[in-house]
Amino acid sequence: MDTLGVTSPQGVTLLGATGSIGRSTLEVLACHPDRFRVVALTAHRSVDRLLAQCERHRPRYAVLVDADAATDFQSRVRTILPELIVLSGEEGLATVAALPEVDQVMAAIVGAAGLRSTLAAVRAGKRVLLANKESLVMAGRLFIEEARLCGATILPVDSEHNAIFQCLPNGRLPGNGVRRLLLTASGGPFRTWPLADLPHVTPEQAIAHPNWVMGRKISVDSATMMNKGLEVIEACWLFDARPDQVDVLIHPQSVIHSMVEYEDRSVVAQLGNPDMRIPIAHALAWPHRMASGVRGLDFCALQALHFEPVEEHRFPCLSLAYQVLQQGGTAPAVLNAANEVAVQAFLDRHIRFTDIARILGEVLDALPIRAADTLEAVSEADAAAREVATLSLARAVRYPTT
Ligand code: NAD
Ligand code: MG
Repeated sequence: MDTLGVTSPQGVTLLGATGSIGRSTLEVLACHPDRFRVVALTAHRSVDRLLAQCERHRPRYAVLVDADAATDFQSRVRTILPELIVLSGEEGLATVAALPEVDQVMAAIVGAAGLRSTLAAVRAGKRVLLANKESLVMAGRLFIEEARLCGATILPVDSEHNAIFQCLPNGRLPGNGVRRLLLTASGGPFRTWPLADLPHVTPEQAIAHPNWVMGRKISVDSATMMNKGLEVIEACWLFDARPDQVDVLIHPQSVIHSMVEYEDRSVVAQLGNPDMRIPIAHALAWPHRMASGVRGLDFCALQALHFEPVEEHRFPCLSLAYQVLQQGGTAPAVLNAANEVAVQAFLDRHIRFTDIARILGEVLDALPIRAADTLEAVSEADAAAREVATLSLARAVRYPTT
């Protein structure tokens, strides 16, 4: 046994290996070949990128969800990597999430598309490194209950939740003298823009995040602060917190990744450079520590750390997240699905930036809220919300610069 407490290399599946989190995870894993073995890599349809990753990391399985991409991939790997087992579809994802030789599953698919495979990992009792916050937002109760029943451990990768996890020794609020959680938010690229300019924001401006390099969807969510809204919901499930125990604070430098305030008014914060390899390395090594490849904070070079409250009228999506938390049931799944449709439409230049929040409000008003106690109920709510959101898009003003 070494200092990490590891006896033999841990098997890892990466769901969403070709994305921003997936690539950062592979960088961390590559620093520790003695501790981890990549068992499976998955992608939606990026054949070239997945192929390069397979050549470099030599997994036993590769999954391309898209069937045509899987066929193309299979024909290209046959001679180069004859041992590689290629699977496709949602079933392929569920298979590699539950393999017996896998200890840890990094859930890093973006959006509702990650729901079933992340749940498959939970049901197989794996240690699940959760980046895919949307699955917890959609089906939080189901996830937490299944994790308890199946003996799965869910470790937060989202930087804020990973920070709180590090500041909260028992991992949950009840009984631990916690007054509130403080989720920090950079405020995104439009924090100081005149409100009148927001309808004219382009997708390129929205995805240019001031501090973090991330996938397109989460970058737009950061600009609307829907991301922080999803994170408030995620925090309630992960840490057994009530919505009124989770506050959001704007901190433009993204050096403090979140904080826990205790009853005695002590505040414990986690700090670090804004680089996802830190929470990824933390979750992979927990309860031990290992190098992430990230340089340390230079406190003397840091400029002052600023904090400010969230302007509600600038970020209406955040209020919608608190609203669906109060509503409960399928309301968060409806909000999440509508948001995915609206963000894609904005990225495709079909709607304006400011239409996103309006569409979410319309969809929430249009749909009844039901209990979210089965995967079917959650999936139905997701499908209904996508349908109503698509109808709402038609009423939006077309994006002015196409
Ligand atoms: P990304 O867009 O860079 O990558 C998404 C990955 O999911 C890719 O591998 C892609 O092939 C796969 N994928 C997309 N659609 C799919 C589908 N229909 N079926 C199967 N696979 C599919 O996204 P990202 O920025 O890496 O984010 C991934 C998740 O991590 C998101 O839930 C995001 O909220 C969360 N997260 C990301 C960051 C970050 O810094 N990027 C930080 C915190 C949390
Ligand atoms: Mg985050």
